[in-house]
Amino acid sequence: MAKRTIAALDAKGKRVLVRVDFNVPVETDPPRIADDTRIRAALPTINALRDQGAMVALCSHFGRPTGPDRKLSLALVAKRTAELLGVPVPMAPDCVGPETKQQIRSLKPGGVLMLENVRFHPEEEKNDPAFARELAAGFDAYVNDAFGAAHRAHASTEGVAHLLPAYAGLLLEKEVRVLTSLLDSPARPFLAIIGGAKVSSKIDVLKSLVAKADVLAIGGGMANTFLAATGTDIKASLSEPDRETDARAILDAAWKRGAEVLLPVDMRWSGDKILDIGEETEYLFAAQVADAMTVFWNGPMGLFEQPAYAHGTEAIARAMAQLSGSAAVTVVGGGESVQAVEQLGLAGKMTHVSTGGGAALELIEGKRLPGVEAIPNV
Ligand code: ADP
Ligand code: MG
Repeated sequence: MAKRTIAALDAKGKRVLVRVDFNVPVETDPPRIADDTRIRAALPTINALRDQGAMVALCSHFGRPTGPDRKLSLALVAKRTAELLGVPVPMAPDCVGPETKQQIRSLKPGGVLMLENVRFHPEEEKNDPAFARELAAGFDAYVNDAFGAAHRAHASTEGVAHLLPAYAGLLLEKEVRVLTSLLDSPARPFLAIIGGAKVSSKIDVLKSLVAKADVLAIGGGMANTFLAATGTDIKASLSEPDRETDARAILDAAWKRGAEVLLPVDMRWSGDKILDIGEETEYLFAAQVADAMTVFWNGPMGLFEQPAYAHGTEAIARAMAQLSGSAAVTVVGGGESVQAVEQLGLAGKMTHVSTGGGAALELIEGKRLPGVEAIPNV
């Protein structure tokens, strides 16, 4: 499955609607962008279109407004985008409507306009056809680079793709290529490291990976449920007794295909609660990383937000970073796990750090993403 990308778009003189995921984390008082990774990640697509002489309108959601909400304006994001691109990025008053369409018509080749938060319209999340038509009006092509929103069938991520010639942006293309190749054709040995708080939120990820990986290393709060299921006394640790059957099924599935499952052999405790993997487990997991040709990691190994319980998470990130420059493929996907790698300054040492959170996990689960499916195959 290869999707048509902007490499197949002759963008010169065209008005292009580009869906980006500029839903960046912000701090309030004073309002400021806490992390502009998602904006930076879309720059190659925006610049490729500008270089060809396209007129670019950027469209994104931001937060969860229920209607127009000044606090959730993309104005701050437009300002940051302008700084990063080195060209003015004026702000449209809305994403649809006559005034916005006039601004789109006035764009010059290479020019960029930021449309206002598409979720100011409830029709967006309903994938309302009339709203999608309004959004598409005045454009010659649609480019989707919003991988982080591709698991949602909304008007700006799915609906418009059926109304305009649709293309994948460079970020979306890379995310889909790297993440699907993990499942389809991983270089082996393939090690999957899964952590995070709960088995319940990752059960489909575990099921998918246990069918593909050579080694599955399990840490974080979710390991407690596996440990309990195999008879270890986890005392008052976070666990999900009703998921112990699921945990056993994962262990069985691995055993049946000759895959290995590694559970923590020692833990860091706070009173009677397990809050991180222990030192020996760090060595055990790091040794597997060093031997792997493909490593996929999702989910912190402990309560990494507290420095005392960040050791396990840091050990995994450092072990993966050490593969930098080798032929091994290292991929990190998720919310908090990606945040941890970025905080450690190790993102640049990985083959790929997904910008996609939930969308990345859905791809790993083997699900199809509506925003990707709506783009024609080549
Ligand atoms: P991701 O966003 O990377 O997919 P999750 O959302 O599944 O990861 O889980 C992240 C959260 O899990 C973190 O906030 C972390 O503090 C928590 N966590 C991990 N291990 C433990 C543990 N042993 N006890 C409590 N919380 C944990
Ligand atoms: Mg999370």
